[in-house]
Amino acid sequence: MRCLQNSNQHFKKAATRLPLGVSSNFRYWGEDRTVYVKRGKGGRIWDIDDNEYIDYRLAYGPVILGYADERVDQAAREGIEVGGVFALSTEKEYELAERICRMVPSAEKVRLSNSGTEAVMAALRVARAHTGKDGHIVLEGGYHGIFNEVMWYAEVEDWNPEEGEPEVLPYGDGVPRVTKRLVHTAPLNDANAVEDLLKENHSSIGAFLIEPIMGNCCGITARRQYLNDVRELCDRFGVLLVVDEVKTGFRVAKGGAQELFGIRADICTFAKALGNGYPIAAVAGSDEVMSWIGDDVVHGGTFTGHSVSLAAANKTLEILEETDALESIETYGRALQSGLGRILAERDIAHSFTGHPALMGLFFCAQAPEDYRSWIDSDYAFYDSLAPELHNEGILVEPDSREPWFLCEAHGDCLAETLEKFERAVDKTVAKMSNAA
Ligand code: PLP
Repeated sequence: MRCLQNSNQHFKKAATRLPLGVSSNFRYWGEDRTVYVKRGKGGRIWDIDDNEYIDYRLAYGPVILGYADERVDQAAREGIEVGGVFALSTEKEYELAERICRMVPSAEKVRLSNSGTEAVMAALRVARAHTGKDGHIVLEGGYHGIFNEVMWYAEVEDWNPEEGEPEVLPYGDGVPRVTKRLVHTAPLNDANAVEDLLKENHSSIGAFLIEPIMGNCCGITARRQYLNDVRELCDRFGVLLVVDEVKTGFRVAKGGAQELFGIRADICTFAKALGNGYPIAAVAGSDEVMSWIGDDVVHGGTFTGHSVSLAAANKTLEILEETDALESIETYGRALQSGLGRILAERDIAHSFTGHPALMGLFFCAQAPEDYRSWIDSDYAFYDSLAPELHNEGILVEPDSREPWFLCEAHGDCLAETLEKFERAVDKTVAKMSNAA
Protein backbone atom coordinates (compact mmCIF):
# COMPACT_ATOMS: atom_id res chain seq x y z
CA MET A 1 0.00 0.00 0.00
CA ARG A 2 1.32 3.43 -0.93
CA CYS A 3 2.33 5.61 2.00
CA LEU A 4 1.47 9.31 1.77
CA GLN A 5 2.56 10.27 5.26
CA ASN A 6 4.82 13.14 4.21
CA SER A 7 2.30 14.47 1.72
CA ASN A 8 -0.45 14.30 4.32
CA GLN A 9 1.68 16.13 6.83
CA HIS A 10 2.69 18.74 4.32
CA PHE A 11 -0.92 19.22 3.33
CA LYS A 12 -1.78 20.30 6.87
CA LYS A 13 0.98 22.92 6.79
CA ALA A 14 0.29 24.06 3.24
CA ALA A 15 -3.43 24.50 3.89
CA THR A 16 -2.63 27.15 6.49
CA ARG A 17 -1.25 29.44 3.81
CA LEU A 18 -2.61 28.16 0.50
CA PRO A 19 -6.34 27.60 -0.10
CA LEU A 20 -6.77 23.80 -0.26
CA GLY A 21 -3.01 23.57 0.25
CA VAL A 22 -2.31 23.94 -3.46
CA SER A 23 -1.91 26.45 -6.28
CA SER A 24 -4.68 25.10 -8.52
CA ASN A 25 -8.02 23.64 -7.40
CA PHE A 26 -7.42 20.64 -9.64
CA ARG A 27 -4.35 19.58 -7.66
CA TYR A 28 -6.35 19.08 -4.50
CA TRP A 29 -7.39 15.44 -4.17
CA GLY A 30 -8.60 15.53 -0.58
CA GLU A 31 -6.84 15.87 2.77
CA ASP A 32 -5.30 12.42 2.70
CA ARG A 33 -4.77 12.05 -1.06
CA THR A 34 -3.21 15.32 -2.14
CA VAL A 35 0.23 14.51 -3.46
CA TYR A 36 3.26 16.78 -3.28
CA VAL A 37 5.96 16.18 -5.85
CA LYS A 38 9.67 16.00 -5.16
CA ARG A 39 10.79 15.79 -8.78
CA GLY A 40 10.05 14.52 -12.25
CA LYS A 41 12.30 12.92 -14.84
CA GLY A 42 11.34 11.41 -18.18
CA GLY A 43 7.87 9.91 -17.95
CA ARG A 44 8.01 9.52 -14.17
CA ILE A 45 7.58 11.57 -11.04
CA TRP A 46 8.48 10.98 -7.40
CA ASP A 47 6.47 12.37 -4.51
CA ILE A 48 7.82 13.57 -1.16
CA ASP A 49 7.23 10.08 0.30
CA ASP A 50 9.48 8.72 -2.46
CA ASN A 51 6.64 6.93 -4.19
CA GLU A 52 7.48 6.55 -7.86
CA TYR A 53 4.81 6.96 -10.52
CA ILE A 54 4.65 6.51 -14.26
CA ASP A 55 2.84 9.72 -15.01
CA TYR A 56 0.05 9.76 -17.62
CA ARG A 57 -1.21 13.19 -16.50
CA LEU A 58 1.98 14.99 -17.50
CA ALA A 59 0.87 18.26 -15.92
CA TYR A 60 -2.32 18.14 -18.03
CA GLY A 61 -0.39 17.90 -21.25
CA PRO A 62 2.64 20.19 -21.44
CA VAL A 63 5.22 17.47 -21.04
CA ILE A 64 5.58 16.12 -24.56
CA LEU A 65 9.20 14.98 -24.48
CA GLY A 66 9.56 14.12 -20.82
CA TYR A 67 10.17 15.88 -17.51
CA ALA A 68 13.52 17.63 -17.20
CA ASP A 69 14.43 16.86 -20.80
CA GLU A 70 18.16 17.56 -21.06
CA ARG A 71 17.94 19.14 -24.52
CA VAL A 72 15.19 21.57 -23.53
CA ASP A 73 16.65 22.35 -20.12
CA GLN A 74 20.03 23.14 -21.64
CA ALA A 75 18.32 25.60 -23.99
CA ALA A 76 16.40 27.08 -21.05
CA ARG A 77 19.69 27.58 -19.17
CA GLU A 78 21.01 29.48 -22.15
CA GLY A 79 17.77 31.47 -22.06
CA ILE A 80 18.51 32.49 -18.46
CA GLU A 81 21.73 34.08 -19.65
CA VAL A 82 19.76 36.34 -21.99
CA GLY A 83 18.24 38.10 -19.01
CA GLY A 84 14.50 37.35 -18.78
CA VAL A 85 12.12 40.11 -19.85
CA PHE A 86 12.92 43.60 -21.07
CA ALA A 87 9.72 45.40 -22.08
CA LEU A 88 11.33 45.04 -25.50
CA SER A 89 11.48 42.16 -27.95
CA THR A 90 14.26 39.74 -28.80
CA GLU A 91 15.12 38.10 -32.10
CA LYS A 92 14.15 34.69 -30.73
CA GLU A 93 10.45 35.59 -30.90
CA TYR A 94 10.65 35.72 -34.68
CA GLU A 95 12.43 32.37 -34.74
CA LEU A 96 9.60 30.77 -32.77
CA ALA A 97 6.85 32.45 -34.79
CA GLU A 98 8.53 31.35 -38.02
CA ARG A 99 8.66 27.76 -36.82
CA ILE A 100 5.03 27.78 -35.69
CA CYS A 101 3.99 29.12 -39.09
CA ARG A 102 5.98 26.36 -40.81
CA MET A 103 4.39 23.66 -38.69
CA VAL A 104 0.78 24.83 -38.41
CA PRO A 105 -1.13 25.09 -41.68
CA SER A 106 -3.36 28.07 -40.74
CA ALA A 107 -0.69 30.12 -38.96
CA GLU A 108 0.59 33.16 -40.84
CA LYS A 109 1.14 35.42 -37.87
CA VAL A 110 1.74 34.66 -34.21
CA ARG A 111 1.55 36.48 -30.90
CA LEU A 112 3.05 34.96 -27.78
CA SER A 113 1.31 34.70 -24.42
CA ASN A 114 2.10 32.98 -21.15
CA SER A 115 -0.77 30.54 -20.68
CA GLY A 116 -3.53 28.84 -22.59
CA THR A 117 -6.05 31.07 -20.84
CA GLU A 118 -4.34 34.21 -22.08
CA ALA A 119 -4.06 32.86 -25.61
CA VAL A 120 -7.77 31.99 -25.79
CA MET A 121 -8.67 35.38 -24.31
CA ALA A 122 -6.67 37.05 -27.04
CA ALA A 123 -8.22 34.86 -29.73
CA LEU A 124 -11.74 35.79 -28.62
CA ARG A 125 -10.84 39.47 -28.46
CA VAL A 126 -9.52 39.34 -32.02
CA ALA A 127 -12.63 37.48 -33.14
CA ARG A 128 -14.85 40.13 -31.57
CA ALA A 129 -12.90 42.91 -33.23
CA HIS A 130 -12.95 41.18 -36.61
CA THR A 131 -16.65 40.29 -36.61
CA GLY A 132 -18.01 43.12 -34.49
CA LYS A 133 -19.91 40.45 -32.52
CA ASP A 134 -19.31 39.72 -28.84
CA GLY A 135 -20.79 36.24 -28.32
CA HIS A 136 -19.19 32.84 -28.84
CA ILE A 137 -20.09 29.18 -29.00
CA VAL A 138 -18.41 26.62 -26.74
CA LEU A 139 -19.03 22.93 -27.06
CA GLU A 140 -20.58 20.96 -24.23
CA GLY A 141 -17.70 19.38 -22.32
CA GLY A 142 -15.23 21.94 -23.66
CA TYR A 143 -12.82 23.79 -21.40
CA HIS A 144 -10.85 26.82 -22.49
CA GLY A 145 -9.24 28.24 -19.38
CA ILE A 146 -9.98 30.30 -16.33
CA PHE A 147 -11.38 33.56 -17.67
CA ASN A 148 -14.96 34.58 -17.16
CA GLU A 149 -16.31 34.39 -20.69
CA VAL A 150 -15.53 30.68 -20.99
CA MET A 151 -16.18 29.62 -17.41
CA TRP A 152 -19.62 28.27 -18.23
CA TYR A 153 -20.48 24.64 -18.81
CA ALA A 154 -23.46 22.53 -19.82
CA GLU A 155 -24.52 20.46 -16.83
CA VAL A 156 -25.17 16.92 -18.08
CA GLU A 157 -24.63 14.84 -14.96
CA ASP A 158 -28.05 15.57 -13.45
CA TRP A 159 -29.68 16.43 -16.71
CA ASN A 160 -33.00 14.95 -17.74
CA PRO A 161 -33.26 15.03 -21.57
CA GLU A 162 -37.02 15.11 -21.29
CA GLU A 163 -36.79 18.54 -19.68
CA GLY A 164 -35.07 20.25 -22.61
CA GLU A 165 -31.46 21.27 -23.15
CA PRO A 166 -28.83 20.95 -20.38
CA GLU A 167 -28.60 23.95 -18.07
CA VAL A 168 -25.58 26.23 -18.59
CA LEU A 169 -23.87 26.94 -15.26
CA PRO A 170 -20.79 28.86 -14.13
CA TYR A 171 -17.70 26.97 -13.00
CA GLY A 172 -18.17 28.04 -9.38
CA ASP A 173 -18.86 31.37 -7.71
CA GLY A 174 -17.46 34.71 -8.73
CA VAL A 175 -18.00 34.29 -12.47
CA PRO A 176 -19.97 37.42 -13.40
CA ARG A 177 -23.47 36.50 -14.45
CA VAL A 178 -23.36 39.15 -17.18
CA THR A 179 -20.83 37.02 -19.07
CA LYS A 180 -23.39 34.26 -19.52
CA ARG A 181 -25.17 36.12 -22.27
CA LEU A 182 -22.00 35.88 -24.38
CA VAL A 183 -21.93 32.10 -24.18
CA HIS A 184 -23.86 29.65 -26.35
CA THR A 185 -23.39 25.91 -26.03
CA ALA A 186 -23.89 23.04 -28.45
CA PRO A 187 -23.13 19.32 -28.36
CA LEU A 188 -20.15 18.06 -30.36
CA ASN A 189 -20.81 16.28 -33.64
CA ASP A 190 -24.25 17.80 -34.19
CA ALA A 191 -23.90 20.32 -36.99
CA ASN A 192 -27.67 20.81 -37.13
CA ALA A 193 -27.59 22.13 -33.56
CA VAL A 194 -24.90 24.62 -34.58
CA GLU A 195 -26.88 25.63 -37.64
CA ASP A 196 -30.02 26.22 -35.56
CA LEU A 197 -28.04 28.21 -33.03
CA LEU A 198 -26.47 30.36 -35.70
CA LYS A 199 -29.69 30.89 -37.63
CA GLU A 200 -31.21 32.34 -34.50
CA ASN A 201 -28.21 34.16 -32.98
CA HIS A 202 -25.67 34.82 -35.72
CA SER A 203 -25.96 38.57 -35.32
CA SER A 204 -24.42 38.30 -31.86
CA ILE A 205 -21.99 35.37 -32.28
CA GLY A 206 -18.48 36.15 -33.48
CA ALA A 207 -16.54 33.01 -32.58
CA PHE A 208 -16.94 29.25 -32.51
CA LEU A 209 -14.47 27.71 -30.06
CA ILE A 210 -13.61 24.08 -30.63
CA GLU A 211 -11.13 21.43 -29.60
CA PRO A 212 -11.45 18.79 -32.35
CA ILE A 213 -10.21 16.27 -29.80
CA MET A 214 -11.73 17.33 -26.51
CA GLY A 215 -8.76 17.41 -24.21
CA ASN A 216 -10.96 18.02 -21.19
CA CYS A 217 -13.63 15.52 -22.08
CA CYS A 218 -11.82 12.19 -22.41
CA GLY A 219 -10.59 12.94 -25.90
CA ILE A 220 -14.06 12.69 -27.42
CA THR A 221 -13.39 13.42 -31.06
CA ALA A 222 -15.07 15.43 -33.77
CA ARG A 223 -16.07 13.66 -36.95
CA ARG A 224 -14.40 15.02 -40.08
CA GLN A 225 -17.76 15.75 -41.66
CA TYR A 226 -18.78 17.73 -38.59
CA LEU A 227 -15.62 19.81 -38.81
CA ASN A 228 -16.26 20.49 -42.48
CA ASP A 229 -19.84 21.44 -41.67
CA VAL A 230 -18.92 23.85 -38.87
CA ARG A 231 -16.25 25.39 -41.09
CA GLU A 232 -18.92 26.04 -43.72
CA LEU A 233 -21.40 27.33 -41.12
CA CYS A 234 -18.83 29.73 -39.70
CA ASP A 235 -18.14 31.11 -43.18
CA ARG A 236 -21.84 31.36 -43.96
CA PHE A 237 -22.72 33.21 -40.75
CA GLY A 238 -19.66 35.45 -40.42
CA VAL A 239 -18.22 33.63 -37.42
CA LEU A 240 -14.51 32.97 -36.83
CA LEU A 241 -13.54 29.36 -36.22
CA VAL A 242 -11.20 29.34 -33.24
CA VAL A 243 -9.45 25.99 -32.92
CA ASP A 244 -8.18 25.70 -29.37
CA GLU A 245 -5.06 23.56 -29.68
CA VAL A 246 -3.85 24.22 -26.16
CA LYS A 247 -3.86 20.46 -25.54
CA THR A 248 -3.70 19.03 -29.06
CA GLY A 249 -1.10 21.42 -30.47
CA PHE A 250 2.37 19.97 -31.12
CA ARG A 251 1.05 16.72 -29.64
CA VAL A 252 -1.35 14.91 -31.98
CA ALA A 253 0.60 15.97 -35.07
CA LYS A 254 3.30 18.50 -35.89
CA GLY A 255 0.55 20.79 -37.15
CA GLY A 256 -1.85 19.81 -34.37
CA ALA A 257 -5.47 18.78 -34.77
CA GLN A 258 -5.74 21.09 -37.77
CA GLU A 259 -3.22 18.96 -39.67
CA LEU A 260 -4.74 15.72 -38.42
CA PHE A 261 -8.24 16.59 -39.57
CA GLY A 262 -7.40 18.85 -42.49
CA ILE A 263 -9.33 21.75 -40.99
CA ARG A 264 -8.54 25.43 -41.46
CA ALA A 265 -8.86 27.63 -38.38
CA ASP A 266 -9.26 31.37 -38.55
CA ILE A 267 -7.44 31.63 -35.25
CA CYS A 268 -5.79 28.92 -33.20
CA THR A 269 -4.27 28.79 -29.76
CA PHE A 270 -1.33 26.85 -28.37
CA ALA A 271 0.31 26.42 -24.97
CA LYS A 272 1.18 23.18 -23.12
CA ALA A 273 3.42 21.11 -25.42
CA LEU A 274 4.82 24.26 -27.01
CA GLY A 275 7.37 24.60 -24.20
CA ASN A 276 7.60 21.04 -22.82
CA GLY A 277 6.42 22.49 -19.49
CA TYR A 278 7.94 25.97 -19.57
CA PRO A 279 5.18 28.58 -19.43
CA ILE A 280 4.52 29.87 -22.91
CA ALA A 281 1.51 30.09 -25.21
CA ALA A 282 0.68 31.42 -28.63
CA VAL A 283 -2.25 32.70 -30.61
CA ALA A 284 -1.90 32.34 -34.36
CA GLY A 285 -3.98 32.84 -37.44
CA SER A 286 -4.26 34.27 -40.89
CA ASP A 287 -2.48 37.47 -41.70
CA GLU A 288 -5.82 39.20 -42.21
CA VAL A 289 -7.29 38.16 -38.86
CA MET A 290 -4.12 38.58 -36.79
CA SER A 291 -3.59 42.03 -38.25
CA TRP A 292 -6.33 43.28 -35.96
CA ILE A 293 -3.73 43.11 -33.22
CA GLY A 294 -2.06 46.48 -33.14
CA ASP A 295 -3.97 49.72 -33.41
CA ASP A 296 -7.30 47.97 -32.91
CA VAL A 297 -6.85 45.06 -30.51
CA VAL A 298 -4.62 45.32 -27.49
CA HIS A 299 -2.48 42.32 -26.70
CA GLY A 300 0.49 42.20 -24.40
CA GLY A 301 1.71 41.06 -21.01
CA THR A 302 4.79 41.78 -18.94
CA PHE A 303 6.11 38.24 -19.23
CA THR A 304 5.34 37.50 -22.89
CA GLY A 305 8.42 36.33 -24.76
CA HIS A 306 10.38 35.58 -21.58
CA SER A 307 13.84 34.46 -22.63
CA VAL A 308 13.73 31.17 -20.69
CA SER A 309 10.37 30.03 -22.03
CA LEU A 310 11.25 31.23 -25.48
CA ALA A 311 14.48 29.26 -25.56
CA ALA A 312 12.68 26.18 -24.24
CA ALA A 313 9.92 26.51 -26.83
CA ASN A 314 12.34 27.02 -29.71
CA LYS A 315 14.19 23.85 -28.68
CA THR A 316 11.00 21.86 -28.08
CA LEU A 317 9.60 22.72 -31.49
CA GLU A 318 12.94 22.08 -33.15
CA ILE A 319 12.89 18.56 -31.70
CA LEU A 320 9.24 17.98 -32.59
CA GLU A 321 9.70 19.28 -36.13
CA GLU A 322 12.99 17.62 -36.93
CA THR A 323 12.80 14.25 -35.18
CA ASP A 324 10.25 11.46 -35.09
CA ALA A 325 9.34 12.13 -31.44
CA LEU A 326 5.61 12.40 -32.18
CA GLU A 327 5.65 9.18 -34.21
CA SER A 328 7.34 7.37 -31.30
CA ILE A 329 4.70 8.66 -28.90
CA GLU A 330 1.95 7.51 -31.22
CA THR A 331 3.52 4.07 -31.58
CA TYR A 332 3.81 3.77 -27.82
CA GLY A 333 0.19 4.91 -27.44
CA ARG A 334 -1.04 2.26 -29.85
CA ALA A 335 0.92 -0.45 -28.04
CA LEU A 336 -0.43 0.81 -24.72
CA GLN A 337 -4.00 0.72 -25.97
CA SER A 338 -3.55 -2.75 -27.34
CA GLY A 339 -2.11 -3.97 -24.02
CA LEU A 340 -4.76 -2.30 -21.87
CA GLY A 341 -7.44 -3.57 -24.26
CA ARG A 342 -6.16 -7.14 -23.99
CA ILE A 343 -6.23 -7.04 -20.19
CA LEU A 344 -9.78 -5.68 -20.15
CA ALA A 345 -11.02 -8.06 -22.87
CA GLU A 346 -9.63 -11.05 -20.95
CA ARG A 347 -11.94 -10.01 -18.11
CA ASP A 348 -14.92 -9.26 -20.35
CA ILE A 349 -14.84 -5.60 -19.37
CA ALA A 350 -16.44 -3.52 -22.11
CA HIS A 351 -14.14 -0.68 -23.08
CA SER A 352 -13.14 1.63 -25.88
CA PHE A 353 -10.52 4.25 -26.61
CA THR A 354 -10.97 7.59 -28.19
CA GLY A 355 -8.97 10.69 -29.03
CA HIS A 356 -5.44 10.19 -30.26
CA PRO A 357 -2.84 7.73 -28.92
CA ALA A 358 -0.91 10.73 -27.52
CA LEU A 359 -4.00 12.09 -25.75
CA MET A 360 -6.36 9.23 -25.22
CA GLY A 361 -9.65 8.63 -23.52
CA LEU A 362 -10.38 5.24 -21.94
CA PHE A 363 -14.05 4.42 -21.62
CA PHE A 364 -15.77 1.58 -19.95
CA CYS A 365 -18.38 1.06 -22.64
CA ALA A 366 -18.17 -0.75 -25.97
CA GLN A 367 -18.73 2.34 -28.08
CA ALA A 368 -16.84 5.51 -27.23
CA PRO A 369 -19.19 8.48 -26.74
CA GLU A 370 -19.40 11.06 -29.52
CA ASP A 371 -20.43 13.93 -27.28
CA TYR A 372 -20.45 14.96 -23.64
CA ARG A 373 -24.12 14.01 -23.27
CA SER A 374 -23.35 10.38 -23.96
CA TRP A 375 -20.33 10.37 -21.62
CA ILE A 376 -22.87 9.86 -18.82
CA ASP A 377 -23.82 6.51 -20.36
CA SER A 378 -20.28 5.14 -20.02
CA ASP A 379 -19.40 3.27 -16.84
CA TYR A 380 -17.40 6.09 -15.32
CA ALA A 381 -18.01 4.66 -11.85
CA PHE A 382 -15.61 1.86 -12.80
CA TYR A 383 -13.05 4.42 -13.89
CA ASP A 384 -13.52 6.40 -10.66
CA SER A 385 -12.89 3.24 -8.70
CA LEU A 386 -9.92 2.14 -10.84
CA ALA A 387 -8.02 5.45 -10.67
CA PRO A 388 -7.06 5.24 -6.95
CA GLU A 389 -5.95 1.62 -7.44
CA LEU A 390 -3.72 2.77 -10.28
CA HIS A 391 -2.28 5.48 -8.05
CA ASN A 392 -1.51 2.90 -5.38
CA GLU A 393 0.28 0.81 -8.00
CA GLY A 394 2.31 3.82 -9.14
CA ILE A 395 0.43 4.72 -12.29
CA LEU A 396 -0.73 8.31 -12.25
CA VAL A 397 -3.92 9.11 -14.15
CA GLU A 398 -6.47 11.80 -13.42
CA PRO A 399 -9.06 10.66 -10.84
CA ASP A 400 -11.74 12.26 -13.03
CA SER A 401 -12.52 10.11 -16.06
CA ARG A 402 -13.03 13.22 -18.18
CA GLU A 403 -9.32 13.92 -18.28
CA PRO A 404 -7.50 11.90 -20.94
CA TRP A 405 -4.20 10.08 -20.57
CA PHE A 406 -1.20 12.01 -21.88
CA LEU A 407 1.89 10.36 -23.30
CA CYS A 408 5.39 11.67 -23.81
CA GLU A 409 8.47 10.57 -25.72
CA ALA A 410 10.19 9.43 -22.53
CA HIS A 411 7.44 6.89 -21.81
CA GLY A 412 9.13 4.58 -24.31
CA ASP A 413 10.42 2.21 -21.61
CA CYS A 414 7.28 2.17 -19.45
CA LEU A 415 5.03 -0.23 -21.35
CA ALA A 416 5.56 -3.58 -19.63
CA GLU A 417 5.51 -2.01 -16.17
CA THR A 418 2.36 -0.02 -16.94
CA LEU A 419 0.56 -3.11 -18.17
CA GLU A 420 1.58 -5.24 -15.23
CA LYS A 421 0.40 -2.59 -12.78
CA PHE A 422 -2.76 -1.84 -14.73
CA GLU A 423 -3.68 -5.54 -14.64
CA ARG A 424 -3.29 -5.68 -10.87
CA ALA A 425 -5.29 -2.47 -10.42
CA VAL A 426 -8.11 -3.79 -12.59
CA ASP A 427 -8.31 -7.00 -10.58
CA LYS A 428 -8.41 -5.07 -7.32
CA THR A 429 -11.12 -2.79 -8.70
CA VAL A 430 -13.25 -5.69 -9.86
CA ALA A 431 -12.88 -7.34 -6.44
CA LYS A 432 -13.62 -4.07 -4.64
CA MET A 433 -16.72 -3.43 -6.72
CA SER A 434 -18.09 -6.95 -6.37
CA ASN A 435 -17.54 -6.82 -2.60
CA ALA A 436 -19.42 -3.55 -2.48
CA ALA A 437 -22.30 -4.93 -4.59
N1 PLP B 1 -7.72 25.58 -23.56
C1 PLP B 1 -7.69 24.26 -23.38
C2 PLP B 1 -8.21 23.37 -24.45
C3 PLP B 1 -7.17 23.73 -22.22
O1 PLP B 1 -7.15 22.40 -22.05
C4 PLP B 1 -6.68 24.60 -21.23
C5 PLP B 1 -6.14 24.07 -19.97
O2 PLP B 1 -6.17 22.92 -19.66
C6 PLP B 1 -6.73 25.97 -21.46
C7 PLP B 1 -7.24 26.44 -22.64
C8 PLP B 1 -6.17 26.92 -20.45
O3 PLP B 1 -4.80 26.81 -20.42
P1 PLP B 1 -3.95 27.27 -19.13
O4 PLP B 1 -4.26 26.31 -18.05
O5 PLP B 1 -2.54 27.23 -19.61
O6 PLP B 1 -4.38 28.66 -18.81
